[in-house]
Amino acid sequence: MKRVAIIGGGAAGMMAASAAAVGEPGCEVTLFEKNAYLGAKVIISGGGRCNVTSGIFDVDRLLENYPRGAKFLMSAMFRFPPDKVIEWFEDHGVRMKIEEDLRAFPVSNNGKDVVCALEKDLRAKGIRILFGADVKSVRKENGVFLIEAKAADCGVSDGDVKKYEADFVVITTGGNAYRHTGSTGDGYAFAKSLGHTITKLAPSLSSLIVFDKWLASVAGVSFAKAGLTLASFDGKRFFERTGAMVITHGGVSGPAVFAVSAMAAYESFGKEKPMVLTINFFPDETAEDLEKRFQKLGAGHGKKRLVNLLDLLLPKSFCDVFVGILKFNPDLQAAGISKEQRKKIVDMLQHFKIQIVGRGAGSEFVTAGGVDLSEVHSHSMESKLCPGLFFAGEILDIDGFTGGFNLQASWACGKLAGDSIAKRMNE
Ligand SMILES: Cc1cc2nc3c(=O)[nH]c(=O)nc-3n(C[C@H](O)[C@H](O)[C@H](O)COP(=O)(O)OP(=O)(O)OC[C@H]3O[C@@H](n4cnc5c(N)ncnc54)[C@H](O)[C@@H]3O)c2cc1C
Repeated sequence: MKRVAIIGGGAAGMMAASAAAVGEPGCEVTLFEKNAYLGAKVIISGGGRCNVTSGIFDVDRLLENYPRGAKFLMSAMFRFPPDKVIEWFEDHGVRMKIEEDLRAFPVSNNGKDVVCALEKDLRAKGIRILFGADVKSVRKENGVFLIEAKAADCGVSDGDVKKYEADFVVITTGGNAYRHTGSTGDGYAFAKSLGHTITKLAPSLSSLIVFDKWLASVAGVSFAKAGLTLASFDGKRFFERTGAMVITHGGVSGPAVFAVSAMAAYESFGKEKPMVLTINFFPDETAEDLEKRFQKLGAGHGKKRLVNLLDLLLPKSFCDVFVGILKFNPDLQAAGISKEQRKKIVDMLQHFKIQIVGRGAGSEFVTAGGVDLSEVHSHSMESKLCPGLFFAGEILDIDGFTGGFNLQASWACGKLAGDSIAKRMNE
């Protein structure tokens, strides 16, 4: 009887276990999870609503949302794309919906339903789930994997640590963001001990800290669509994304900010070496069109003060700050705005600059970097260096933007790893 060990009961691990269990009849699949329950991160994802996947069904378009790992993901994604993921959850009793911004959620808006469906499936397939099973090491000796886990209810007892043997191992311990969920990066050490390289790790999908103190006075102001360009400290690299953003007490946040932070995950910057974020509040308009619109507005409201005129274009509370930065006379009336002043206003509406001096500490959603993809077969998720060893999920050097792309990568890689093991057992 073949024994499969899956280390880490998150998104990738649960999906890998489910797929592996349809292999050889009587095969033994064991899922090791250090927490007392499965899918801690899945439950809190999407603010508890769990953005399960994306509504982008075209795989080529889908892959544009991964700053790292897109090419490697191709095989897994074609086999288990978002529409199949949605179908999988619907077949397992979780009704799904796709929202206007193409993010897919359970209709219940409850991430627990996603985890419950997976756990029910694992139990129905007779998978052994070991809770509180904190894996300490994974080795391979004489063709067999040896797993040592603290307090695991399995194998032969050796003091506090128990030993377990397996023919196949899938490491799905995730990254090291939001460490209180159990994802503390343990798998990087396991992968290294089995001969793998871990690429440089960095926080990805984080909020950004802003130098300018005035920002706090407009915390909470949001923009549904802003064009962002983040320039590296030396001004040589530019990271661009259009989308929603929000001003916070210490900086900026929201989907478009997360995306540029992901693209700039490996940039080094700080107070001494700030990056510059340029915001275009009107990304769909040319400067000429915006200037004409602004001129027309001014002509129609000649007596309005500049700050009240801007009110018609920008969130109200943001206008005072905007005019303050322009350093124009606050009593300037629309009719008195010169051509030169109008040009300056329009330029600032489309090139509003703020200095970025840091990433929101501990605010990142995922870890960039991980197991070097050149050491893993993309068509199976099996290690090229250690036969029988598989990887799936955030432990790999793969990360996506917000919008369901990270969970989608975990489901797809987990399914492919499990399917590959099931196939190998049937051979
Ligand atoms: C706050 C937040 C919100 C997010 N929202 C979304 C979202 O809405 N949509 C989206 O696509 N992505 C979202 N993400 C990202 C997404 O949740 C992760 O990328 C995804 O969960 C990674 O799946 P994984 O299975 O690789 O790892 P994880 O889900 O992190 O699971 C790893 C599991 O391994 C276990 N483990 C670790 N070490 C050991 C060990 N030594 N022994 C035993 N078990 C171990 C952990 O306890 C954990 O349960 C969010 C992330 C965060 C932090």
